[in-house]
Amino acid sequence: MIRICMVGTGYVGLVSGACMADFGHDVCCVDINAERIAGLKKGVIPFYEPGLDKLVTKNVQADRLHFTTSLAEGMAAADVVFIAVQTPQSESGEADLQYVMQVGAEIGRLMTGYKVIVTKSTVPVGTARHLDRVIRQAQPKPVPFDLASNPEFLREGSSIEDFMRPDRVVIGAETEQAGNLVREIYRPLYLLETPIVMCGIETAELIKYASNSFLAVKISFINEIAALAENVGADVSKIARSMGLDKRIGAKFLHAGLGFGGSCLPKDTHALVHIGQEAGVDMAIVRAAIDRNEELPRRAFAKAQRLLPAGAGTVALLGIAFKPNTDDIRAAASRPLTRLLLDAGLKVRITDPVAMPMFREAFPEAVACASAYEAASGADLCILVTEWNEFRQLDLDRLGAAMKHRAFLDCRNVYDHARLTAHGFTYDCFGRPAPRG
Ligand code: NAD
Repeated sequence: MIRICMVGTGYVGLVSGACMADFGHDVCCVDINAERIAGLKKGVIPFYEPGLDKLVTKNVQADRLHFTTSLAEGMAAADVVFIAVQTPQSESGEADLQYVMQVGAEIGRLMTGYKVIVTKSTVPVGTARHLDRVIRQAQPKPVPFDLASNPEFLREGSSIEDFMRPDRVVIGAETEQAGNLVREIYRPLYLLETPIVMCGIETAELIKYASNSFLAVKISFINEIAALAENVGADVSKIARSMGLDKRIGAKFLHAGLGFGGSCLPKDTHALVHIGQEAGVDMAIVRAAIDRNEELPRRAFAKAQRLLPAGAGTVALLGIAFKPNTDDIRAAASRPLTRLLLDAGLKVRITDPVAMPMFREAFPEAVACASAYEAASGADLCILVTEWNEFRQLDLDRLGAAMKHRAFLDCRNVYDHARLTAHGFTYDCFGRPAPRG
């Protein structure tokens, strides 16, 4: 059993902490957000993540998972301290490290014995060196410690499964002792023969950005092919399927539509471009992927304008979370799309199974609705933005009956021309032009 302090109880910190407790370790999760910690002590999960409530309750009851606002308390008995706080995109594109460094300074101030300090947050190359200086400067008297980097690859919506059955675990460490201690945390994964990649800290830091940027490039690539397919009468979904059947390519992240969003791919691609600039390397491929992605809400808006009958004024948005099974709307494509629709003077009615509270705050002028059918009431166009399961199985007659005009923009390529036109809708999607004739 290893004693772990997890600093930050967001998506990554809370899921990692709960999973590590489930591995059998003693985990104390720390957050400066007192409301969040008070809620967690009562079993209230601060965001939507399937299965997390049960995992937290189980490990709290087993006395392996604890919550506190006091870093001193969290660190007191810890062998390893993970930093899992946010690293948002700053105005100039690079990762904002202020939260990581604040935690580093506090750790330095409180450290009384050897600890391994691990960055789990996604941080640019060189952050560990910077953190090392910050910790040393904050120490009242020198206390030995080691740094390590253990980037996280979990995805919101399936994060527990991702953490418990990862494709790989990456551990960058400056000493063998630190690397081995972090590796020991993941011992339960040996049974699954999970590959554990041991490397230097800089390599670990860059692996995370390289992986996320590659996924972003894959999505933008298929969206570029979708734009081309539309103009030449080809079907991107068949192209993607055939490409994906090639084992060298793989089927995942080849879905054309509104592109990537959320708290990771947009900011991590921007950060990698910035890291490249600092290191004198133009990350031209990643820049192109960002540009392609950022134009997609405008493409959706142009399609919406073409579908709307003249003088029409109401649009129903189905789904606003950046992907299904999460309430995260950070950098979701729904945001610029909603802004474009509202700025064009259209009325926007929106619905999402879990993300409505977040969206209401961001767009108070949009009308919040409890279901797709309520959102469609009196609308001239329905736009499917997030492919939640309940939007994949719409009763199209009921939807159409609620609407003023039957028009449907399918930003995730869930439906098809034949089905929608059979129900009297005009229909458009991404990269799958209407069959000729
Ligand atoms: P988040 O914003 O959901 O959570 C961060 C938490 O840290 C918040 O609860 C905040 O109150 C807390 N915090 C901030 N400063 C603190 C301090 N000084 N002391 C204690 N707590 C503090 O962030 P997240 O989505 O969990 O992401 C965390 C990191 O993990 C980021 O670097 C992100 O890029 C990376 N990451 C995120 C995901 C994901 O899917 N969300 C996946 C992989 C990696």
